[in-house]
Amino acid sequence: MKEENEVVKTFAELGVREELVKACERLGWKKPSKIQAEALPYALDGKDVIGLAQTGSGKTGAFAIPILQALLEYVYDSEPKKGRRPDPAFFACVLSPTRELAIQIAEQFEALGADISLRCAVLVGGIDRMQQTIALGKRPHVIVATPGRLWDHMSDTKGFSLKSLKFLVLDEADRLLNEDFEKSLNQILDEIPRERKTLLFSATMTTKVRKLQRACLRNPVKIEAASKYSTVDTLKQWYLFVPGQYKDCYLVYILSEMPESTSMIFTRTCDGTRFLALMLRSLGFRAIPISGQMTQSKRLGALNKFKARECNILVCTDVASRGLDIPSVDVVINYDIPTNSKDYIHRVGRTARAGRSGVGISLVTQYQIEWYTQIEKLIGKELPKYPAEEGEVLSLLERLQEAKRLSAMDMKESGGWKKRRGENDEESERFLGGNRGGKYKKKSFKKFKR
Ligand code: AMP
Repeated sequence: MKEENEVVKTFAELGVREELVKACERLGWKKPSKIQAEALPYALDGKDVIGLAQTGSGKTGAFAIPILQALLEYVYDSEPKKGRRPDPAFFACVLSPTRELAIQIAEQFEALGADISLRCAVLVGGIDRMQQTIALGKRPHVIVATPGRLWDHMSDTKGFSLKSLKFLVLDEADRLLNEDFEKSLNQILDEIPRERKTLLFSATMTTKVRKLQRACLRNPVKIEAASKYSTVDTLKQWYLFVPGQYKDCYLVYILSEMPESTSMIFTRTCDGTRFLALMLRSLGFRAIPISGQMTQSKRLGALNKFKARECNILVCTDVASRGLDIPSVDVVINYDIPTNSKDYIHRVGRTARAGRSGVGISLVTQYQIEWYTQIEKLIGKELPKYPAEEGEVLSLLERLQEAKRLSAMDMKESGGWKKRRGENDEESERFLGGNRGGKYKKKSFKKFKR
């Protein structure tokens, strides 16, 4: 791995063709990111690559640039037939675990390929299949897909096959290997040519990823752009111990301290995202929820509002914590501490991206100390305490209770708290300040004394 202060080569020095160097410049990519600087020389040379890179590292560029370069070489280096250069359809396929990520990957391909008339199609669930069949009829160079929908088209759509495929990318491979995708992924791998280049990117190297690597890559070069579970240096991380029943006061206090920032707030449940967004809106914040419970078009709508800064607070579950490319997030707030500490890395990876600075704040209640301790273990450091003025925080209580009452009414009227029976009582009490789980005892925090 390169030393921090080692001079990074330019895209051109790494061997990227002029057309693509210009595209990078147009996107404001002044120099290659770490994963790009390390992966590009191998991928441009036609090697299979495994990249272990965290979210926001620029990994999309690390696989898109070599694919576009190979496409250009294929077009320019082949013999013209009847005076025409070849126009290879279905040259590359990128598999992504989520629709949102697929759409964002396609956007980066289209941005990088704008000057070379690149055609790109997105095949994801939740979107009309007919529209996708029409897009396939235009013989795109690059397909970005979720495995299930790609397999549907491979098995059903007349005239579509990936027999000429030259590149396969498995993005967020650790997530592609969950049970939902395993079957279609294997079917796809059985069907596509073995003579191809494969690029695999993953945040973590799990046993399953290793197995997939053995099954589908040839003598791959392994590149690790970040130490195992580190967070980037430009990320300032804090924690704050808060009594469960005052958690919302602390949240509102923190948000009021940074009124101009764009923030993502992570909660445990879909209902939680809706309730918090309603509560924050009734307090005058521009908040919007996004969760797996929403339809695809609503999720994209919410994301676009956030991207356009119409709303500056996105309240989300972990569904949104990976893959979404939201470049301008300033603050990530863990309203609920993730039970799986690796999710913490993915969540805070939403900020401090591509060299920018960012803030991650975790609200830890008396019930979440164990999980929080696991996170500190994983990142290998103790975080500083966020400075909060307790008097000011508690002075928000009265306004907040009213906001919560109104939001609870809204939730009831719109059929909220209804989706999962059994969890509902716990959920509503959790947000409305019930005492489920015991009273706040100062002594609970003592075992975590610093
Ligand atoms: P990714 O990790 O691929 O999702 O990329 C995260 C963000 O970094 C995206 O908004 C990219 O447009 C941006 N990005 C990628 N490569 C570079 C680069 N070399 N310089 C600056 N920004 C970049």
